[in-house]
Amino acid sequence: MRAIVVSENGGPEVLAPAEVADPLPGADDLLVATEAIGVNFIDTYFRTGLYARDLPYVAGEEGTGVVVEVGSAVTEFGVGDRVAWAAAPGSYAEKVAVPAAVAVDVPAGVAPEQAASALLQGMTAHYLIESAYPARPGETVLVHAGAGGVGLLLTQLAAAKGVKVITTVSTDEKEALSREAGAWRVLRYGAELSRKVRELTGGEGVAAVYDGVGKDTFDASLESLRIRGTLVLFGAASGPVPPLDLQRLNAGGSLFVTRPTLAHYVRDREELTWRARAVFDAIAAGTLRLRVGASYPLDAAERAHRDLEGRKTTGSIVLVPQ
Ligand code: NDP
Repeated sequence: MRAIVVSENGGPEVLAPAEVADPLPGADDLLVATEAIGVNFIDTYFRTGLYARDLPYVAGEEGTGVVVEVGSAVTEFGVGDRVAWAAAPGSYAEKVAVPAAVAVDVPAGVAPEQAASALLQGMTAHYLIESAYPARPGETVLVHAGAGGVGLLLTQLAAAKGVKVITTVSTDEKEALSREAGAWRVLRYGAELSRKVRELTGGEGVAAVYDGVGKDTFDASLESLRIRGTLVLFGAASGPVPPLDLQRLNAGGSLFVTRPTLAHYVRDREELTWRARAVFDAIAAGTLRLRVGASYPLDAAERAHRDLEGRKTTGSIVLVPQ
């Protein structure tokens, strides 16, 4: 089968299209013929070596497709089912061994390109706003990278709860998309950011900042919080945040900082199903709009990573096997 293999850590050029053997599904796995594959920032962290993974490996974590074989211990799925997943290493491939424990049925009416990119970013947006800092109606929050994959979904979920969302973006096109998603105000990054956030909140600051940008925004995020506000640092698109002097949390107003990850918010089948259903049902009902900003052939994974890291993408992006 065709797959994207990483044999050394490095830039996007290490994503090498290759012919490899089909994966062998275990007793608890499904073998899935992929229809579309989600491309996420975490794929770049594994590629560069920021997150460790044994080499060589087939890239990717997320996708959707049709079950072609079922492991002997699996009871809840059958051949022909259309499933999606957010946590199956080796997903940049024509076939993927997906642990049944992380597979979710795709509802009718959700197209493959949407199903492929809904779960990882969608369940992240869901746990950020429902669980990591459950913002209340009337509160104001700040969401960085408002036109990104997570950003567009998080903004919609927050706005639907009656939360006032301020976002940051880098271009006019991204500003328009962020407004469409329900942002109350859209700002640019830079030295003036926290002052502008305070201006918009009557000097008080926001209840929470959802920060997936990391190194470049962390200081402004802390400075934008109200007293006892929460900084949810959930990513590092601009690089990892250096060690933090905890005294800054005291000086900033008895602040909270959390550094969550999706795996800890889908700890069992019940929690996974709750979040996945919430995302898929909302997409199927048309109340959550998932923007697939770009679709690339599987062999063009290198270009997809260049575009993602080069801030050229909006919404989610996917790879499609040819
Ligand atoms: P996005 O589609 O949001 O792409 C990243 C965006 O970040 C860019 O489009 C860009 O938007 C912004 N950005 C700002 N500075 C930089 C920079 N220096 N380099 C690159 N991008 C920059 O990606 P995802 O939706 O896939 O992921 C968003 C974040 O969420 C990532 O940090 C990811 O790791 C994290 N994440 C965390 C999870 C968790 O559970 N902890 C799960 C899923 C995602 P602009 O041009 O407008 O600035």
